[in-house]
Order: sequence, then C-alpha cells, then structure tokens
Amino acid sequence: MHWKTRLLHMTAKVPEGFRSLVSPVHRGSTVVFDRQRDAHDNWRADQEGYAYGLFGTPTVLELGARIADLEGARHSFVVPSGMAAIALVYLACCRPGDHVLLPWSAYGPNVELTRFLTDFGVEIEQYDPMLGEDLASRIRENTALVWVESPGSITMEVQDVPAIVKAAHERGVQVALDNTYAAGVLFDAFAAGVDISIQALTKYVGGHSDLLMGSVSVRDDSGYERIGSTWRLLGMGVSPDDASRALRGLQTMGLRLEQLERSTLIVARWLKDQPQIARVLHPALPDCVGHEFWKRDFTGSASLFSVVFAPQVTAAQVSDLADALQLFDAGYSWGGVRSLAMTYPTRRDLARRYGGEILRLNIGLEAPDDLIADLQAALGTLR
Ligand SMILES: *Cc1c(COP(=O)(O)O)cnc(C)c1O
Repeated sequence: MHWKTRLLHMTAKVPEGFRSLVSPVHRGSTVVFDRQRDAHDNWRADQEGYAYGLFGTPTVLELGARIADLEGARHSFVVPSGMAAIALVYLACCRPGDHVLLPWSAYGPNVELTRFLTDFGVEIEQYDPMLGEDLASRIRENTALVWVESPGSITMEVQDVPAIVKAAHERGVQVALDNTYAAGVLFDAFAAGVDISIQALTKYVGGHSDLLMGSVSVRDDSGYERIGSTWRLLGMGVSPDDASRALRGLQTMGLRLEQLERSTLIVARWLKDQPQIARVLHPALPDCVGHEFWKRDFTGSASLFSVVFAPQVTAAQVSDLADALQLFDAGYSWGGVRSLAMTYPTRRDLARRYGGEILRLNIGLEAPDDLIADLQAALGTLR
C-alpha cells in the first residue's frame, strides 16, 4: 500500500492488554460498524450500543453512568451545561397551553428562560418556595411541571421537597429538581420522590472552574423515554475531553466537599457574629429559611451562602466592600477551588424581602483564617 493510504489505515501493531487507573478518552463523531445492517439496526441505540458520536462515546457514557449510580437514577443524560439541562427538561415536558410552577428563588437564567418559553405558549407562574403541601392550591388542570430548587439561588431557601412532590403527584404532575447545590449526593432526590433531577456539573463535579457541563437524571422508564426522545433530537453532545475532566473531578469530590463544608461553616459562623451582618443565609444555620428541612433531608452542606447586611449599610458600600476583598474574586458560577463574592444589583426584590443588602459568597479551598482576615479588613471599611 502507498504510504499515503498507510497514513490512514493502520497496519502497525501495538501490544494488547493495557490497563491503567484512568478512564480512556474516546473521541469520535463517526462510529463504525461491522456491516451495513448493524449500522441501520443501531441507529436508535443510545445506551446499549453506539451509533453516532453525538449520543456519547464511552467516556461520556461512563460519566453519565457514574452520575446515575451516585444519584440512584434510572439513567443520567450528560449535556453541555447546567442551563442546557434546564432547557432540556422544559422542551421535553412542556407543550403549548401547559402551565409550569417555578419558585421565585430559582436560578436567575432559569427564570429568564421562562420568558422565552412564554412565546411558545407555555405559561410559567412563580410560587413562594416555602409553600410546601399548599402548593396543591396552585396546581391547575394544565399544570405539566413543578420545579423545585433547594436551596434556592442567592437567598438559599430550603424547600420541603417531599411535601411538594406529594402535592404534585396527587394531581399527576411531575416534579423536576435543580440539585446542583447538593452535587447530586447531599440530597437524595429520588428518595424524596422527585421525577427528574438536574445538576450543573460545572460546579462541584467539575470542581475547578474549567469546564461547563450538566446532567439530567430520571427515576424511571417513562422519564427515560420522555427526556431521551427529546435529548436525541437537540444535538446536546458533550466533548469527551470535558467528560474526562469531569470524571477526574468526581474522584476528588468527596474530599473537596468535606473540606468546603468545614471551611464554609467556619467563615459563615464568624460572619454571623459581626455587627455589620444582620443574617447569615446558610442552609445549615438557623437563620436560613427552611433550615429545618435541611436538617431533615440533607446529609451535609456545601460552599455557597449569603449574608444580609444591617439595614443602614447601602448597596454602594457592599459593592465597595466586595471590591476591597483580596482573596475573593468577583465572578459568576461557583463550586471551584477559589473563593468568590457577588452582589446582585438587579435583585432589589431580594434586598427588600430580607431587609438589607445581600452578598453571596462561595468559599474555596484557601485556609479559612486567611478568608476571615480578608473579610474582617473589608468589613472594617464600612465604619
Ligand atoms: C450554575 C447553575 C446552573 C447553570 O449551570 P451552567 O453550567 O453554568 O449553565 C443551574 N442551576 C444552578 C442552581 C446553578 O447555580
């Protein structure tokens, strides 16, 4: 054969039987088959076999299988971001004329996406995250989906998920949970009866602020069919290189979560004692709305919480204070190894609701004493 052909068709041999501790990175758009007939028979395969790289190579399917195993799910679909996971749930579960219930504490971009869905004839109604079983009164004939997000974004309200599930299921309505805070492990979504559990793997699974990914996990066959049939059409493929990075992240997630929980509680408890701080909204501390549900339903806490400043502290002062921090960067997303601080100037509703300016902190792997010294110096600028 000409060398140009040999460049493409391997005739050389490598030894067989290589084994290591690392999951291999399988790349590929085209999947090849032994025979034409196999190619045709396999086109629908998405879990048992391989048909096309878009539906996952072994690296991506291994990540999905590990997430499903951790969450106790029937199956986990891996998608390009947490937002893609949220969008997939809407597109799979909602049709024109449907009604959806979403807590006002939900992740901001999820709320923004609902405005887009309104144009497609889906009506989205916000509800008080603390409604619990009383959510029943908000469910209509055409309610197709109830979202829960616990704790909520920014103000961290912990919801009574089992009570909401009961109210929804009694009326035949499915419940989807954004389980990102719990990393799919600190809250057992399926034991609480949730039908669909999504995560931004971007946060704790990735864990190093260097990848974007999401998962949609389903409890049963009907969820698998509903999500899977939509997922196959939307082109939500994931890079095997990113999946490999997420697989690496999983290996250290136990250690990271343990240390983050400890450091975060040290910083949160210190902040609680500062005169400029009125309230610390951390699910494991009693100031947080729904703390009792956290105690009942969660096996741990994570790295994210917010503080409410004393009423006399202004938004401009909090913004200056955040800028004065040396170890906390200003930045979206969280769950990595570095500490972050964010203000939310567009969420005046939250400042009004809690009677003071709000600063959200993500604690990283820095020594907590250094973070406290940094916060102390910045708080000193308020006087
Ligand atoms: C970050 C986040 C998402 C979105 O994840 P991306 O991967 O950034 O799209 C969804 N839900 C919650 C609660 C988040 O914090």
